Amino acid sequence: MPRYDFDMLTIGAGSGGVASSRRAGSYGARVAICEEWRVGGTCVLRGCVPKKLLVYGAQFADSFADAEGFGWTVPTPDFDWPKLIAAKNKELDRLHQIYVNMLNNSGVKIFEARAVIVDPHTVEVGGKRYTAENILVAAGAWPETPDIPGIEHVISSNEALDLPQLPQRIVIVGGGYIAVEFAGIFSTLGSGVVEIIRQPELLRGFDEDLRVYLGEEMKARGVDIRGRTQVARIDKDAGGYTVTTTAGDRIATDLVMYATGRKPNTKRMGLEEAGVSLNDNGAVIVDEWQRSSVKNIYAVGDVTDRINLTPVAIAEGRAIAETLYNNNPVVMDHADVPSAVFSQPPIGTVGLTEAAARAKYGEVDIYQARFRPMKNTLSGRSERTFMKLVVDAKSDRVVGCHMLGQDAPEIIQGLAIAVKCGATKKQFDQTTGIHPSAAEEFVTMRDKYVRPPEKAAAE
Ligand code: NDP
Repeated sequence: MPRYDFDMLTIGAGSGGVASSRRAGSYGARVAICEEWRVGGTCVLRGCVPKKLLVYGAQFADSFADAEGFGWTVPTPDFDWPKLIAAKNKELDRLHQIYVNMLNNSGVKIFEARAVIVDPHTVEVGGKRYTAENILVAAGAWPETPDIPGIEHVISSNEALDLPQLPQRIVIVGGGYIAVEFAGIFSTLGSGVVEIIRQPELLRGFDEDLRVYLGEEMKARGVDIRGRTQVARIDKDAGGYTVTTTAGDRIATDLVMYATGRKPNTKRMGLEEAGVSLNDNGAVIVDEWQRSSVKNIYAVGDVTDRINLTPVAIAEGRAIAETLYNNNPVVMDHADVPSAVFSQPPIGTVGLTEAAARAKYGEVDIYQARFRPMKNTLSGRSERTFMKLVVDAKSDRVVGCHMLGQDAPEIIQGLAIAVKCGATKKQFDQTTGIHPSAAEEFVTMRDKYVRPPEKAAAE
């Protein structure tokens, strides 16, 4: 008779929890997973997947506009937002079912209810108590908004993905991944978008050139970006809402969306009572084995607030299953994790920003190019692509690749392998380009970029 009901009990059936549970199940562990909403989690149901489907939907507007330059006569296209939302929801239902099937096929027991930790080996779910040798917390994160007058009127990305109608005007607050992605979706579909950011530029933490050029391109697409601006209050009125900034500007709008970060889901879960240490943001503190301050309680993904990306949560989750149930100790490597922002135009990036590389290596060489991609010649679109390589001057290793432009996420995924393998600039140069492509620019940049004196002096 086993000592515990389960070998592993996972709280949260999102990307990290499902990946870990399935892998553990495949090694014969007796696993249960608890989910209070729907199996699938943020990425599949409220994040990456529905967002990307809306991005695809929006991009047709560009394609219709560009087609004329290539000889097409396009009747004025008609867009039906409820139809896109319905199609998206049908796809999410399909994916949800696939996740359920995958868990079932791996022998993982699913509890569709909220779980609360009673003690380090006991979890209460759906009014019953179950014991487990190990507990995995993979409960994700939830949108966080500042406490200002009128904040009850705003929506988050959760609601933005399911709006009954496309807003004619929307104010988006925040300059991170989610805010710029939704600004791109709504503006490309024709909404008037005002984006309010408290920094001078979007996407703090990204390479400075990417930040500046993304801002330029978004403005050129009609997004009204208000930098160094904070919201003082939001009032509901007959026409919709009025957003008042701390500078006293008043912006009339149909909808206000906040994307000001996400907070780990650790409240009222019994974590601290069981002895699990949380940081100031409420995230579970874990070591390199994803182990919390309680030796049999682990945590992965957004609930640990490290690199909040789906593939990272999946890798962290699988590392636990390998370590515990396959006699294969795996420490997750958080270095050189590539990421993309599905803005319009999109960003792909891997490795260090120029500033971070200078801080780490001292002398760095920069190679960069900004050009109008071939497709934009006949279409007449003025949007330009930007590419940048950051090279450690001493070792010649490429330590950062950054791109803003169509297909950037697809291109950077391949370059991430080169960066991970420690490729040198010389090896980039020895690589033959694919012609004609935008990507070939990454292997044909010969001249070091010399910053204009006035810019260098300002740094
Ligand atoms: P981010 O942390 O990326 O950005 C939050 C933004 O809100 C920042 O611009 C921040 O400004 C601003 N902000 C925070 N607090 C306030 C405030 N009180 N008033 C005004 N502005 C404020 O969060 P997101 O919500 O955009 O995304 C959450 C996470 O989800 C991301 O970090 C990312 O890991 C993940 N994600 C990844 C995606 C992808 O891979 N494509 C897509 C979507 C999400 P400041 O810079 O000044 O702090």
